[in-house]
Amino acid sequence: MTPERDPDCLFCQIVAGEIPATVIAEDERTIAFMDINPASRGHALVIPRAHARDVHDIDTDDLRAVAATAQTVAARVIERLGAAGVNLLNSSGAAAWQTVFHFHMHVIPRYEGDPLRLPWVPASGDMAQIAAAGEQLKP
Ligand code: AMP
Ligand code: ZN
Repeated sequence: MTPERDPDCLFCQIVAGEIPATVIAEDERTIAFMDINPASRGHALVIPRAHARDVHDIDTDDLRAVAATAQTVAARVIERLGAAGVNLLNSSGAAAWQTVFHFHMHVIPRYEGDPLRLPWVPASGDMAQIAAAGEQLKP
């Protein structure tokens, strides 16, 4: 059985508040925070609080909870950031581009005519812009 927390996991450290993140939604099972290498303005991640590597490992109730939180965040990016659409994306396994091995659902706002093509090439974001988008997405 996977323990609740993996001591070497970056996202477990975010859950524990040990490294900073711009948290925009949370409930008993999940938290959502801004991605620091955004594919588009408002790119966020939704994760279970309990450590799970990927879609195969995650508790089904946690997966349901992640989906529900992703739906909430997806609605906010439309309403508050003016996105015209949303990509929900999970990568499970290195071959599927997973780089952080704590399950996460990407919520990627899409804008009319935006140049984003998936997979995107990660590049450092503008921290002020990330924080500003995060502010708009908080409850
Ligand atoms: P994936 O490649 O699907 O495993 O996605 C991992 C995502 O985590 C990437 O989009 C990274 O930009 C993002 N990421 C990595 N470290 C952090 C962090 N400390 N805070 C927020 N997002 C992060
Ligand atoms: Zn973890």
